[in-house]
This record gives sequence, C-alpha cells and structure tokens, in this order.
Amino acid sequence: MPTRSRSLPSVAIRREGQVVLMDCGEGAQSSFVRHGLGLNREMLVLISHLHGDHVNGLLGLLQTMSMSQRVRTLTIVAPGELFDWLKSTMEVLHIGLTFEVRFVAVKSGIVLRGSDFRIRAARATHSLEAWSYIFEELPRPGVFDPKNAQALGIPEGRKWSSLQRGRTITVKGRKFHPSQVLGPERPGRRIGYSGDTRPSRTLVRFFAGVDLLIFESTFASRDSDRAVERKHSTAVEAAELAREAGVKRLVLTHFSARYRRTDALLGEARKVFSDTVAAHDGLTLDVPQFSGR
Ligand SMILES: [Zn+2]
Ligand SMILES: [Zn+2]
Repeated sequence: MPTRSRSLPSVAIRREGQVVLMDCGEGAQSSFVRHGLGLNREMLVLISHLHGDHVNGLLGLLQTMSMSQRVRTLTIVAPGELFDWLKSTMEVLHIGLTFEVRFVAVKSGIVLRGSDFRIRAARATHSLEAWSYIFEELPRPGVFDPKNAQALGIPEGRKWSSLQRGRTITVKGRKFHPSQVLGPERPGRRIGYSGDTRPSRTLVRFFAGVDLLIFESTFASRDSDRAVERKHSTAVEAAELAREAGVKRLVLTHFSARYRRTDALLGEARKVFSDTVAAHDGLTLDVPQFSGR
C-alpha cells in the first residue's frame, strides 16, 4: 500500500543508454518521467509476480511511452498470464501502441540474452507464482597494454583494435593471441532483485556473490509471524540471506505501510549485515565496475 512518503515497487537499472525496470507498481510512469529515465530507450521490464502492487503501473507506462511516440520494441519478461491481462485490457480500452511489445514468459535459468548482458530467473516463494531476477553483464576483455604490443612488434592501428576485440592476428607470418596484450578478463556487474518472497536456500544459491541485492523486507522482527503467514521476509531475514549469499551490498525495499519510518528495520538488518541500505523513493545508487571480484 502506498504511504505519504512511499510509492509502490519499481526499480530501474540505468546502464549505457539502456533501462531495465524491475516491477512496475501503480504510479511508476510518474517516477519514470520525474527521474528522466527516457521513454524511447532500449528497455526491458521484468515482472516478479502478478500482485497489483507490482504490475498496476504497466498500462500507464506503456501509454505514456506511446504518447511520446516511442518506436523501439519493448521487451517484457513475466509470468504468462500477464500478457492475457494486458492484451484484453488494451482491447477494452481501445489502446493502440506506437511500438511493438515483445513478451517473454519467465522460466528458471537464463531467460534473455543481450549483446553484453543476460537475465537469469529463479523461483521465489510467495503466495502465488513468483520469480526473482539477476541482471548480469557479461565479462569484458582485459585492459589493452600498448607497451606489450610494441615490444612484440605489432604495428599500431587495425591490428591493435582486432586484438582489443579478442581476435587472433598475424604479423609477418607470426600469430598473436589477445591474451598476449590484454590484462585479465574483467567480471561484469550483477544485480539481484527478489520480488516478494520468503527467504530460501534456492535464493541463497541464486544470489551468491552479486554486487547489489535488492531484497524485500516487508516486516520488522516483531511481526515475523505475519511474514511467514503472508509469505514475505523480515529485514533480518533479508540480511541473513545477504550474508549467507556473500553479496556485496544489500538494499531493503517493499516495506509494509504499517511502518511510518524504516529506521528500525534498517537497524535490525545492519546488526546482521552491515552494508545495508533502506530504499526510499528516488534513491539512486552507483554499482561500480570491476570492484575486484
Ligand atoms: Zn506479492
Ligand atoms: Zn508486493
């Protein structure tokens, strides 16, 4: 439920002109515009499950994109029934879009591959079919060392750029492999998003070592009975999972409207996992590259 200071769930990853939106609660279009995410970017939407607080914003967002003459195809990854709902609602409301929507039904494992990233999904544990996601960049080639290339007698220019792109080249009959002039491969960043869920062994394994984990934290410890009953997590449970999975940083989100402030939940979590932040509307975090995994 929205409160005076908190809107409904929606998290965006902004990266090299691309936007990956995870869940789309009511009002997401307003935040989307307010934060200048761009209505005609390369974009993916990942939906964790079909509870209204995670999907009700989708129709408005699609319409706003259409009003601004979006032309790029938008990809939506979600449980299959979402597509029936969108299709029938758009028919009833006579909504036509200026762009294509490509639907991908979520499944376990790699759901989508891009040129330099991929999306993984794993089953979450909630009161209906629910999924957690990881956005991961593919590893990048190591840093090019020009001194090394010169020492090996490789002429500057096209041959250098071929090596930088990972291709083997030949100079005067001698073969050179990229590994001779590139440093070690640099791991890409990985960002995990839980959606609504109880903590589980599956999710500990799934999120192992991610750079940033955004995990639901609906309840404080004193309401842990409710967390079990409604299939949500407490702040402490989120922190325990983050610690076990060895993630770098944890962001708590999806707080129940019963808590006006989130300090108490954050305090509980930090006792278990110190590198924890409580999300608030508009919070922006940088995920540094190559943080030495
Ligand atoms: Zn839910
Ligand atoms: Zn929810």
